[in-house]
Amino acid sequence: MIVGIDLGTTNSAVAVFRDGKADLIPNSLGHRLTPSAVSLDEQGTVLVGLPARERQATHPTLTATAFKRLMGSQRVTRLGKRDFLPEELSALVLKSLKADAEAYLGEPVTEAVITVPAYFNDKQRKATRRAGELAGLKVERLLNEPTAAALAYGIHQLEAETRFLVFDLGGGTFDVSILEIFEGVIEVRATAGDNRLGGEDFNELIVDDLRQRFAADWGRDARESDALYQRLRAAAERARRALSEQSAAPVRAVWKDKTYEYELTAEAFEARAEGLLNRLREPVLRALRDGQLEARSLREIVLVGGATRMPAVRRAVTRMFGRFPAHSVHPDEAVALGAAVQAGLKSRDAALNEVVITDVCPYSLGVDVAERNPDGSLRTGIFSPILERNTVIPASRVSSFHTLQANQKAVTFTIYQGESRDVQDNVALGEVSIPVPPRPAGGVTVDCRFTYDINGLLEVDVHVPETGEQRTLVITDGEAEPDDLDARREALAALKVHPRDTEANRAVLARAARCYEDFLGDKRAYVAHLMAQFESILERQEPRAIDTARLALSEALDQLEGETFL
Ligand code: AMP
Repeated sequence: MIVGIDLGTTNSAVAVFRDGKADLIPNSLGHRLTPSAVSLDEQGTVLVGLPARERQATHPTLTATAFKRLMGSQRVTRLGKRDFLPEELSALVLKSLKADAEAYLGEPVTEAVITVPAYFNDKQRKATRRAGELAGLKVERLLNEPTAAALAYGIHQLEAETRFLVFDLGGGTFDVSILEIFEGVIEVRATAGDNRLGGEDFNELIVDDLRQRFAADWGRDARESDALYQRLRAAAERARRALSEQSAAPVRAVWKDKTYEYELTAEAFEARAEGLLNRLREPVLRALRDGQLEARSLREIVLVGGATRMPAVRRAVTRMFGRFPAHSVHPDEAVALGAAVQAGLKSRDAALNEVVITDVCPYSLGVDVAERNPDGSLRTGIFSPILERNTVIPASRVSSFHTLQANQKAVTFTIYQGESRDVQDNVALGEVSIPVPPRPAGGVTVDCRFTYDINGLLEVDVHVPETGEQRTLVITDGEAEPDDLDARREALAALKVHPRDTEANRAVLARAARCYEDFLGDKRAYVAHLMAQFESILERQEPRAIDTARLALSEALDQLEGETFL
């Protein structure tokens, strides 16, 4: 069975295409979204999802979140005694989603379509594919998130001839895509984005405010303590979400038995966020420009990604386009549903017989070249694009280059992604060298071919026609070799994972532990009492009694946490 997976910065989701439609699969807690969080408990057992996220404030050194932002890098996160690469943390989330899907579907799930931000570069995409493989999933396809959202939206509009824009602001990335539906073909016309802009950046504004107000009390902790930072971030997230529903909210954090609190109004927050809100414009303009389209030719603006729930963002969108965005897709679910539609396409589901979708390459790809200045000196580090952004994919293009010096022994290309003329400002993806025969300057031609596949993965081949020499790009940043992948998959499989059937108990206890730390005085004592009561019921091991007690505990916590927003 192939499933569709939205591997998000904050939340992930898995969906399946069955009986002619895409459906989200609930996790073991019955939720449709699984927080992209991993935590180790004191015994080294892995927790994934809500129980892990609830431990972030109470056990920051044992918990990892937002690791999608590190995908493609070799930055390790140490949890307890073990180091994890970002792709390994992602693999643990994927494994958990795979287990949920298998439990729900009653059959093994071995393949997946996994979504990535359109702006993910080659390294980030390859890391995502490895994460899938580490989780024991064959990655059938990497699908751009806004394209997935568009599929979820477009599948119901196939009869119409329409053009729409998908505005996808998630936890860590911002993607814009313009799509057209014409005679059943869904075509991505242009895509643009900012992979350093998301809900987390809005949290940082509030964290900064908290620091400015109270840093004097916290001394060195204000700068150095990760535990304090996690507290502040969680406080910022709570306040920001509350502002999606109300015009003012308390920003409230407990640190070392003291409560720090102030009131943030929606108005003040919006003013504070002006810089970030302005950054939403540029990718929209770029996508319109690249697609040679005018804003008024768009039938609808489709909002995707949890951060588009912010009224400030909705207002910015309304101002930008002079109209209200559409409400027809669920911002948190569209990407996973679209991935399931793609999975349905892959498995040739009859209901999708007529659907064709085309996508584009979201950024320019090219090599560095050198040029001779009029005075004969050399200018190096100039970007020469081979595949321009918004080329329809799959695509293959070749450019020819000439040697620069007499009797040059080899030609080396460094491969870059980006839009700047100066390669230094673009992302280096790897390097490829090829020997050339001794000739006068300019005497040897080297062809460089870029092939960009449907998954957004790049292949580079260089070729010297004169000698027949051929080379293929090797990524040089110490990426794992395939046999290493097997060993790492086994190492991950050897980790003890918390059993699914008791996850709900873990989640509510972790939440209670966080509430204990979040509150002081009577409320804290009350939480301690509730926890002790629940733990004693757990010890009795009577499933019915445990279920009833868990519900009562979570309702009590809802009430306590609810009160803080009043
Ligand atoms: P995604 O990557 O699509 O899961 O989006 C996650 C982002 O959406 C996070 O930054 C969340 O803080 C944000 N988010 C989710 N729900 C809300 C809400 N009700 N109000 C404001 N932001 C939200």
